[in-house]
Formats: sequence, C-alpha cells, structure tokens
Amino acid sequence: MSMQVDNSLSPHGGSLVERVRLLSGLGDIAGLPAIEVREQIVHECVNIAHGFFSPLTGFMGSADVASVSETMRLSSGYVWPIPIVLDVSQAELEAAGVAVGDTVLLTHGGNPLATLDVSEVFAVDLTEMARQVYATIDPEHPGVQRTLGYADRFVAGDITLVCEPVINPPFDRFWRTPAQLRAELESVGWQRAVAHQTRNVPHSGHEYLMKGAFMEAQADGVLVSAVIGEKKEGDYIDEAIVLAHENLRAHGFFRDEIHRTTALLWDMRYAGPREAVFHALVRKNLGCTHHMFGRDHAGVGDYYGRYAAHEIFDELPDLGIRSVLTLEWWYCPTCGGVAYEGICGHPDTKQDLAGRLIRSIISGGTEPAPQTLRAETLEVVRQCAEQYGFGSPFVTEKYLSQRTPVLTVPEAP
Ligand SMILES: [Zn+2]
Repeated sequence: MSMQVDNSLSPHGGSLVERVRLLSGLGDIAGLPAIEVREQIVHECVNIAHGFFSPLTGFMGSADVASVSETMRLSSGYVWPIPIVLDVSQAELEAAGVAVGDTVLLTHGGNPLATLDVSEVFAVDLTEMARQVYATIDPEHPGVQRTLGYADRFVAGDITLVCEPVINPPFDRFWRTPAQLRAELESVGWQRAVAHQTRNVPHSGHEYLMKGAFMEAQADGVLVSAVIGEKKEGDYIDEAIVLAHENLRAHGFFRDEIHRTTALLWDMRYAGPREAVFHALVRKNLGCTHHMFGRDHAGVGDYYGRYAAHEIFDELPDLGIRSVLTLEWWYCPTCGGVAYEGICGHPDTKQDLAGRLIRSIISGGTEPAPQTLRAETLEVVRQCAEQYGFGSPFVTEKYLSQRTPVLTVPEAP
C-alpha cells in the first residue's frame, strides 16, 4: 500500500472536516424519522461535525469497522484504531421507520442535534470486534463491556450538526473546535505543539513531564487536552482537572504564551496502545505536532504492556504526529526533589507521585511539600470540591447524579 505521509500540521487525511448546517427553523427537519441518542453519541456527533475525528464524516460502515478492527486502518488506508459506531436496536429502527437512503434526525433530550444520511444498517460479531480492538474479551475490561453492550445494529452514514450544543461553565472557557484552536495557536505563533492528554489534576510529576516534553520536542507550547466524558467514582471531577491545569499557567509556572488548556469530549475506551494512537490522531487534528505518552497510557488493569503505547508508534510511520516518550517521575527524598525514572538511583526511597500519595495530600488537610503538589494547585482543587464536587474533588454518586452537565443540547430555534 502506498501511503501519503501528512505534513506535521495537516489534519489527519489532509483537510479538516466541518459538517455543520444550523437549523433556521423546525421546517428544515419536519417529517424526518427521529432517533434519540445517549450522551456518548452526542460527543461523537460533535467530534465528527467539527473535525476532531477528521477524516471521518460520519459513523462507520461495515467495511471500515472491519478494516479498523483488524488492521487499525480505514478502508481508505488512513490509520484509525477504534471503530466509531452508532448502535441502535433493530426494534427501534423499525419503530422509527428507518431504512437505508433515509435522512434521520438524531435527538438528545428530545431536541434536534444532527441529521444522519443512512448509508448502511448492519450487524457485527461484537465479541470478535472486542477481541480485535481490545486484545481481550474479558467483560471486566470497560471497553469490552461497552462493546458487548452495544445494541444489535449499527447505523452508518454521514452526519451534519444542526444544533450546536451549549458547553456549560466552567468548560465553555476551555472549549475550542479544531478550527478555532488552530487559529489561536497560529496567532500565538506555535509551529510545534506538544499535546498532553490528561484526566488528572497535575501534580509535580505531571508538571515536569510537560516541561520535559516541551524541551525534548523543542516546542513552542504545551497543549493540555483534558478528556471530559463518562466518569466513574473516585476519578477527579472534570472541573478540577481543567481549572487546576489552567491555574499552572495563571501562576506563571508556564508562561502565558506557551501553555493552553482545552477540553475534549471523549468517553475513554481504555484501549491501551490503540487508544494512544487515537489520542494522537485527535491532537493532530487540533494542530499538535507532538504527543506525550507516559507509562501505561490509556490502559486499565494489566491488559497491556507498561510501555505498549510507545511501541505501537513504530508500526505506524505514516501517523503524521510524533510521539514524545516519557518515563516516570517520582518524589525522591534522597535526591531531595522530583526525580526521573532513568536518572534517580534510589528505588528504595522513591515515592510514587501518582495515586495514593497525592490523594492522601488532597484528602488530608495538610499543606503539601512543593515537590509533590503545588499549594496553588491544592487551593484550586479545594475550591472545585466546594463549588462543583459537593465537598469532594473526586467523583461521588452525588456528583454523578447532580452535577451540572458539561453540555446541553438546546431546544430548536
Ligand atoms: Zn533519588
């Protein structure tokens, strides 16, 4: 197969997809059969319509689903690691009277979101799809669980956004479409941007990772791309993640010109190396030239090798975005600070910055050593706990049921 290698700043597939045609009135959608979609599908419609998922123009058909699952490539040849599908039950399709060739209205909360030009309705062997994408069919794996839970039909076709969802505070400040973000990065003169994927409040290790990647890539800036989506209890609340990252810039730990925080609407699949490739492609569409990958990127449990996300990039020379491979930072009292996996020789005294240490600092009420968590970060985290988290910076049952939604699909004009 001969593949064109993209220029570093080109979107994946060469041009940015933009599929938005906002309703001028209800007459535009009168009489269309409607399918109500869940929030995950809303995220995906927004991502397709605004080009986060370029070159995808809609939900995948059977040829692309098979090709992506088996070979990590679209049938057009472009790298794509995770099927993007709209699952609907056969019963619901029949009730709505949907057939191939129809234009269907996708709604959320009963309000119009997007139209879908149905090109195919098909079924796949979900267990086989899970095995190919996740390299396991263990139902404990959250991505496998999601796949096995799909309805019995996939509906393929191009989508067009007809109503722009409202991004609610505080996320509205961090929301940029790829076109908007690219324009902003160009205006601040970023030629080389390194992406940092996060679902965490930044501790000192993360800060050093970003600074190290910035230096290694000789970058003009670091783009913090926070994944905002489905949460489980114990995760950091979304508000704390974006506001704590933004706060590092606000306090000058990164100069204003070299740091931006954005939100990405994505429900994690925990597909390990495949998800790493997916993260890289989306950030390429955002205008990044480099992407940071640390230990166990986007993995869960012990399904993937510790540095599998690093190794997979060697198999995909035409990805068009370069990876910056980062090892681990930890706090070492003997070194007297934050120490790097490849440098510090005190494995017996090292303190892992991820997980328990930081959680105990945040929950404990004592002031942290600056080598672990900045006081400025802790302050923001505590404010977020009060303002958004019902007293906790970590996701609780109450947060899941009572939080302000990240986005709202408004009523039609
Ligand atoms: Zn040390």
